[in-house]
Amino acid sequence: MIVAVDGPAAAGKGTLAKRLAEHFGLDYLDTGSLYRAVGMAVLRSGGDPSDAAAAERAARQLDPAGLCDPALRGEQAGDAASKVAAIPAVRTALLDFQRSYAARPSGAVLDGRDIGTVVCPQADVKLFITASLERRAERRLKELLDKGVSAIGERVLQEMRDRDARDSARSVAPLVPAADAVLLDTSELDADAAFAAAVRIISQRRRAD
Ligand code: C5P
Repeated sequence: MIVAVDGPAAAGKGTLAKRLAEHFGLDYLDTGSLYRAVGMAVLRSGGDPSDAAAAERAARQLDPAGLCDPALRGEQAGDAASKVAAIPAVRTALLDFQRSYAARPSGAVLDGRDIGTVVCPQADVKLFITASLERRAERRLKELLDKGVSAIGERVLQEMRDRDARDSARSVAPLVPAADAVLLDTSELDADAAFAAAVRIISQRRRAD
């Protein structure tokens, strides 16, 4: 079984996708970490994440062993990720890795922006996880403060608005729900309620097949 979990930043898809993978005994790939790793690699070499040649080179040299680097979780990496992600050659370079991951015999949950539309259009279940911009910014701010990172609400909100705009407006693989995705709005749901709703959706889909 392949489960695609797409949606904007801080909608809760990472936590949800990981729990779903555990629950259904599937492997889990956070595809955002690939773009974050490419963005950070460009920054670390002193380059600009919007430079197509530098970003493509970094994507082609990506070492999946480095995907657990805690530095990838920061805002700097997220921002660089959304810049390299708008470059078509970067997306092409990362496609094979994602598709072979999805094709594992054990099945997999992949979370990202374009899993249901581009990476795995044949996924068995497609979830599009969303929440209001304000609620997502609130969650991201709490996450940062909990980690001891100083952050200002207004700034987090603005950065999230900019990232949404970049992800939705880009010409390749923009953030849009697949036509056959089930939408789950987590604005008023905590992590447990979102998980329960997603398990229901997946179980119903499996029964229907
Ligand atoms: O999900 P996460 O916030 O880690 O993703 C970082 C950035 O990587 C996103 O803002 C998006 O621009 C890009 N991304 C993407 N396609 C994916 C996953 C992430 O374009 N499948």
